[in-house]
Amino acid sequence: ERKDVLNLGAGPSALPEHVLQEAARGLLNYNGTGMGITEISHRSKEFQQLTNDLSATLRSLLNVPQTHEILFAQGGASLVFSSIVLNLLSRFKLLHPEIPASETYIDYVVTGTWSKKASEEGKRLAGSVGVNVNIAADSRAYSKDGKSFECVPPLDAYKWSPPAQTAFVYYCENETVNGVQFASSQAVSTAFPLNQFQDNIDPPIIADFSSSFLSRPIPNISSYGMIYGGAQKNVGPAGLTILIVRKDLLVDVDAAHKLGAPVVPLTLSYKTLADNGSLYNTPPMFSMYVSLLVAKDIAAKGGLVPLEERNYQKQETIYGALEKLQEKGLIRINVLPGSRSWMNVTFVFLQPDKEKAFLEATEAKGLRGVKGHRSVGGFRISLYNAITQENADTVATVLTNFLNSS
Ligand code: PMP
Repeated sequence: ERKDVLNLGAGPSALPEHVLQEAARGLLNYNGTGMGITEISHRSKEFQQLTNDLSATLRSLLNVPQTHEILFAQGGASLVFSSIVLNLLSRFKLLHPEIPASETYIDYVVTGTWSKKASEEGKRLAGSVGVNVNIAADSRAYSKDGKSFECVPPLDAYKWSPPAQTAFVYYCENETVNGVQFASSQAVSTAFPLNQFQDNIDPPIIADFSSSFLSRPIPNISSYGMIYGGAQKNVGPAGLTILIVRKDLLVDVDAAHKLGAPVVPLTLSYKTLADNGSLYNTPPMFSMYVSLLVAKDIAAKGGLVPLEERNYQKQETIYGALEKLQEKGLIRINVLPGSRSWMNVTFVFLQPDKEKAFLEATEAKGLRGVKGHRSVGGFRISLYNAITQENADTVATVLTNFLNSS
């Protein structure tokens, strides 16, 4: 029985209960085959159909244009930190064999733990072949203490490398640990500035949407080289990474290697995945199955636009309650207005000795997974799709009652 518990964890995280019940049935007997989804062949017509359905449902939910392929990979978002460098340095070498590594750049925007980690992997891999890594902006420079992630960079902060010498530009749309998120509308100054790139083809813009995937529409999706995310927040169980890749990023890595690009393991080549319909080797079948059920459930309820409205309201409820407590000097919201994540709300108590009592109070009320990431402390409330407005109201009440009575 799950009734008494509200899972507010940052990921893996809550999934809709009725979807899990259906998934449990498929685990025993998938679509009347008499075999469970984890027992059938990944080359069976049933699983082929599942892969096609998942791809089509995601394409329709996110309005993915035909210029982009949807690929299903393994290794989590962390492996993309590596594979993106290998695939895009290969692409750059094929396009510009005359440009030496010492004059080639990859650009990262650092707004939190995950983009920082991605940039460090970029430094390892690109650095090992002499390619330059440029931190185009680091939002810590704009925080009060100079070392916290409190916002996205201001629009005039970005120092891009020369476009003709840049293999890709990278950012993380929602920083799960810190609670920093770019705005989705280009009309807002805290959006990622797509318009600072002339034609939005080169350099390709790569974005990690792991913790906001399917939480709201992605406007301008055609402007991206690649959008990707691990499944284990809004979408499904861990094990599946979804890549939405512009077709010109699918390149022959062996041909690039002959020209001097790094050698790329075949399983990490996006073209290998695409050429084999994401079935080069056995894919994470159960994760894909549950992800399909979740995606279909979203589609049946009207898609991402009503979901965006619901998610907007939930974060309004929580930040609204926190704002009041902040005004009373009880807590501090870690992130500034405009850059606040809808999915991961982070705050600290101004009297840290209260944190332990609060954690106990939340536990007693059945709230789980609210402790902040060890690197930032305090609390983090994750408001993924499976959290309802009623759940958000409960959290706001628990918070307000605790702080007003202690
Ligand atoms: N990027 C973001 C935004 C994340 O939230 C996470 C995981 N929480 C990762 C990357 C790393 O994902 P994985 O554990 O799937 O490698």
